[in-house]
Amino acid sequence: MRYKLPIIPLRGVVVFPHIVINFDVGRKKSVMALDEAMANNQEVFLCAQKDPDLDEPGAEDLYTVGTIAKIKQVLKLPGDIVRVMAEGVKRGHIVSITGYDPFIEGEIEGITEVQREKDKEIEALMRSILKNFESYQEYLNQMTPYTVFNLYSIDDPYKFSDTVASNLSIKIEDKQNLLEILDVKERLENILRILSRELDILEMEKKIDDEVKNSIDKVQRDYYLREQLRAIKQELGEEAEDRNEIDEYREKLESLNLHDEVKEKAFKELNRLEKMPYGSPEAPVIRTYLDWILDLPWSVSTEDRLDIQEAKKILDKDHYGLSKVKDRILEFLAVRKLANHMKGPILCFVGPPGVGKTSLGMSIAKAMNRKFVRMSLGGIRDEAEIRGHRRTHVGALPGRIINGLKLAGSNNPVFLLDEIDKLGSDFRGDPASALLEVLDPEQNTNFRDHYLELPFDLSNVLFITTANTIETIPSPLLDRMEVISLPGYTEEEKVQIALRYLLPKQMEANGLRKDQLNFTEGAIRRIINEYTREAGVRSLERTIASVLRKVARKVVEESPENIRVTAQNIETYLGVPRFKYEKMDEMDRVGVVRGLAYTTAGGDTLSIEATIMPGKGSLILTGQLGDVMKESAQAGLSYIRSRSEELGLSNDFYRDIDIHIHVPEGAVPKDGPSAGISMTTAMISALTKKPVSKDIAMTGEITLTGRVLPIGGVKEKVLAAHRAGIKRVILPFENKKDLDDIPASVRKDITFNFVKTIDEVIKLAMVNKK
Ligand code: ADP
Repeated sequence: MRYKLPIIPLRGVVVFPHIVINFDVGRKKSVMALDEAMANNQEVFLCAQKDPDLDEPGAEDLYTVGTIAKIKQVLKLPGDIVRVMAEGVKRGHIVSITGYDPFIEGEIEGITEVQREKDKEIEALMRSILKNFESYQEYLNQMTPYTVFNLYSIDDPYKFSDTVASNLSIKIEDKQNLLEILDVKERLENILRILSRELDILEMEKKIDDEVKNSIDKVQRDYYLREQLRAIKQELGEEAEDRNEIDEYREKLESLNLHDEVKEKAFKELNRLEKMPYGSPEAPVIRTYLDWILDLPWSVSTEDRLDIQEAKKILDKDHYGLSKVKDRILEFLAVRKLANHMKGPILCFVGPPGVGKTSLGMSIAKAMNRKFVRMSLGGIRDEAEIRGHRRTHVGALPGRIINGLKLAGSNNPVFLLDEIDKLGSDFRGDPASALLEVLDPEQNTNFRDHYLELPFDLSNVLFITTANTIETIPSPLLDRMEVISLPGYTEEEKVQIALRYLLPKQMEANGLRKDQLNFTEGAIRRIINEYTREAGVRSLERTIASVLRKVARKVVEESPENIRVTAQNIETYLGVPRFKYEKMDEMDRVGVVRGLAYTTAGGDTLSIEATIMPGKGSLILTGQLGDVMKESAQAGLSYIRSRSEELGLSNDFYRDIDIHIHVPEGAVPKDGPSAGISMTTAMISALTKKPVSKDIAMTGEITLTGRVLPIGGVKEKVLAAHRAGIKRVILPFENKKDLDDIPASVRKDITFNFVKTIDEVIKLAMVNKK
């Protein structure tokens, strides 16, 4: 059946049959449509408009399926608004729009729904919807219980489904969709699906809500509790804790005799802390900062003792030998005393590990009566390690310099910067330049740590640096330092150090008395030569300690009268010896020369071998030689070729031979120019078939014209030769001055030959066959 009806487009509402609904009408056309309906049989067609914002919807803007409704009541409200109460009667659809003026009118056809028996399936669907709808309503907390109650009494699935559908708070499209489903079973299924989806979402929403609410609740609760606590404390006459804290900080800061800038900054932070609400996350950050300021020795300094005699006594007491080094230190202190300020170069102790660099630093502190702090620079790549992180960083702290001063507890300690040669640098900034600022007397009165953001005067700190080698010290740093080298000890020196210093020290550390133990010099010598290989005495000390621990155990377990550690029984304590120094060759050989090398563990001797074989004039170098050493061999060969006649070789002697130079002993690093004369000598010996004397060792750089240039590490090399039992050492002429460093006991065992040219070397080294 079709009939003409006035149409009222609704914004955001879908009206279902069986439902009574209230809505307000304001648009002129809709009011006119109402009037028309009231004038006839009170029926209108209600349909939703697709876009609720449209004021004048056309035919295509309306959903064609809607509900034919009966107007029950009309109430004029002020402002031309009409409140309407209507009841949906049945579904209908617009066949065509027949007019727009003065109201929308259309030809409407009623829709007959698919007819169904109310079977078990439908019953089950209805029950299930009811149950879900109940929880849904609880979550939403906005529908009247009346709705649910009402639903229980609805038996008819058509009415039931439409009632539930109209009470769902879902999107208008979904609602319209429910209206358009004409099979009641399908409609019920759809409703159930929508309900369970909505329930899921609501549940999740609630969970999130609860969590947020809980956290807010806790903050609020804490706040209330604290306020109450404060009130109670005030009642009891006890001051609130944080007031107390602020006052405490204030008092301490006042008492510290701080620099104006520091004071100002500290009080500014304190004021911030005071104003901060209780429990603010920033408060601990400020407290840490204030604690740092309080802990730093801004104006605490120790009084210097600049008594040179006393200093000498202390240096001698702690260290054996090192007379040159000690003299340098004493001069340095004397200058300090006269000049009465700390400006001047920074001492840099350079030498292999275990030669006493650190312990000299400690002795200097002791001699001057200053505090001592030590910081290793090894592997530092980040500038912030030196200068701190800005406070905007999470967990920021001052750098190591400021940290060291805090540890020292005075602003004029002796500050030992270890391993300055191992300083790195990368994208995180250049620690060397930060360090430069620390060490530069022109700048370090105002050293600014990133964390403190305040100047700290470092000019009273006595910085001492240490390094294993000066080669890798950044040169701007090196420029500011006075290098004092500690090249390593001779066997004799080591023996003395062990007997006088290390042994007594370790005996005390292990609780042993003199009458319980007899540690012989012979045992010490074997430890030095066969169990340790070092320039310093660190492993010597460690090895002695390990023997003493075993002795201590024996004393406790067996309580013998007197234990003897001797050269004969040292192996029972330490096992099989770990090192054997290369001893002198048994006989003179062709093509074999003893070279001298400088290693981080002191010096060593190197056997250098050359052989000739048929070939095409190439020079083969093996034994993992460095580039400089290879070039030096090439230079030697070129020299030999240029002097072939004098050497008794044919002009083109190299044409059909290859020369092979090999340097065995994998453990010794082999580079540098100092093996030049040894390699050249080995080649000449191999070419001329004249043997080289077995008791000669040599070191020196060679030039293309056969001159011999000076080399480094003379002391270490000579000591190594001495250990190997070598009687004669050939050294470059210009190294003559270095002999002063070598102990007389060694010098008397060795004959030194100082040479200017390779010709002299050949003459000295070659043995003329009888
Ligand atoms: P470095 O800092 O050069 O690596 P250390 O200062 O740590 O070496 O020295 C290692 C150990 O050797 C320390 O126990 C030190 O007292 C001791 N030592 C080094 N040289 C001497 C010496 N000349 N006299 C006495 N003890 C020394």
